[in-house]
Amino acid sequence: MKRYRDLAPSLRTIMTPGPVEVDPRVLRAMSFPILGQFDPEFTDIMNETMDMLKELFQTNNRWAFPIDGTSRSGIEAVLTSLIEPGDRVLVPIFGRFGHLLVEISERCGAEVITMEQEWGTVFEPEAIVERIRETQPNLVAIVHGETSTGRIQPLAGIGKACRELDALLVVDAVATIGGTEVRTDEWMLDAVIGGTQKCLSVPAGMAPITYNERAEAKVLKRKRIERGLRDPAAAGTAEVAAIRSNYFDLSQLQDYWSSARLNHHTEATSMLYALREGLRLVLEEGLTERFDRHLYHEQALVAGIEAMGLRLFGEASCKLPVVTCILIPDGVDGESVRGMLLQEFGIEIASSFGPLKGKIWRVGTMGFSCNKKNVLLTLGALEAVLIRHSFQVNAGKAVQAALDMYGRDVR
Ligand SMILES: *Cc1c(COP(=O)(O)O)cnc(C)c1O
Repeated sequence: MKRYRDLAPSLRTIMTPGPVEVDPRVLRAMSFPILGQFDPEFTDIMNETMDMLKELFQTNNRWAFPIDGTSRSGIEAVLTSLIEPGDRVLVPIFGRFGHLLVEISERCGAEVITMEQEWGTVFEPEAIVERIRETQPNLVAIVHGETSTGRIQPLAGIGKACRELDALLVVDAVATIGGTEVRTDEWMLDAVIGGTQKCLSVPAGMAPITYNERAEAKVLKRKRIERGLRDPAAAGTAEVAAIRSNYFDLSQLQDYWSSARLNHHTEATSMLYALREGLRLVLEEGLTERFDRHLYHEQALVAGIEAMGLRLFGEASCKLPVVTCILIPDGVDGESVRGMLLQEFGIEIASSFGPLKGKIWRVGTMGFSCNKKNVLLTLGALEAVLIRHSFQVNAGKAVQAALDMYGRDVR
């Protein structure tokens, strides 16, 4: 008989833009006993998670709940439920995940209009507003924190323009939620998708979303009667196209998450325990304190990288605080450096995609991974590995620069 060895994953230092290390409290929560999905103890956990998500998204929306699946399941649920075939969708693209929004929107049957900005930069919000006025889309889908390029798109003003023109604004905040400000209500975002395995430091497998009444109105218009289960009186009108997916149908999902508790899927029990514990950690720390912590370690990391003699990629004014992109020096094999970091030090950093493949490394400082020990270890190890790759570093400077940064403030 074929034998398989015991599962024994190594303890890594994960400095990528996700998945990142998980707090032991979250791992412990995942090992708790299973409850039935309609057990009052479990539905209490569902309700508490919704309340905590509203705090995380800084919203008074009625709806905030997780979609079961990785972050793109949240994106797909929102877009599939909000885009009717033939709808015009505007997607401003400034990195890889913008293209994902295009791809999903096209699959929903949208007429997609794009605008592109060179990777490493972001849009002036006014340019997006102008294009919204020009193209009059039904929906605008945009990435907030673009992990592929390490940039953050300012969103102020875009929501207001969308409201004036009756367009819905959907934001991919997968990389930013829990790591930097995402003000759903203040910025007038109609639907927001977060991620678990990035700044929330919960394993991949859920995607928290929130949406407001404007988005809900569209969802309800498209609600379909499911034979034998749903009240025909609650059905939508015949003229609108029904939501094509069952799994990602927000009208059914919200009925499941509401007190009506209409059966849909079976909620992912252990993942929900994990998300609830992860959110509890975020709220215990405090949103502002957590965002400050991410900035604090980012600054130490950047100081160290620059002191070493490396250069950062991209425009500084729109740097995403939770991802630092480093230009791979000429003559250095980026993949070999990453391999050695993992092999010799157990540290993982990321490469990038498309036009940036082989050109930059990406270092994440997200959630539980975003701490002093990890930053200092990464700097020390990167320096050692670069020396092994015959790159002339300013030896000894990186960790010192980071320590100087840490010395400025006691935390
Ligand atoms: C990671 C990421 C995603 C996709 O997340 P998955 O969990 O891999 O599905 C989408 N958008 C952005 C901005 C991301 O950083």
